[in-house]
Amino acid sequence: MPQCQICACDPAEIAWQPLGPGSDANTFTTLGSHYRGFPVIKICFTCQSNIKVGIPAQFTINDQTFIGTAEKVYEVPKYVVDSDPLLWWEETCKPKGAA
Ligand SMILES: [Zn+2]
Repeated sequence: MPQCQICACDPAEIAWQPLGPGSDANTFTTLGSHYRGFPVIKICFTCQSNIKVGIPAQFTINDQTFIGTAEKVYEVPKYVVDSDPLLWWEETCKPKGAA
């Protein structure tokens, strides 16, 4: 069982495909039945719940760092990655009224 790529703690049970094929980042399937041709983030049930209620998750695909929720993910600029992506998300990307 692979480990969750977000919390690096629990076993990964879910495939999150924030970059497609859906128009938002709200695409979750079971591992193995994910959509081909789109990046997959392997996550646990806890992280899936967090992402769905608007707690941002940070992950990396092909050396590009992303942060976001089931609503939308954002590419984190290189200069932010080394400082504080969460603070950058709070100030720049956080949807109004989100948790
Ligand atoms: Zn997790």
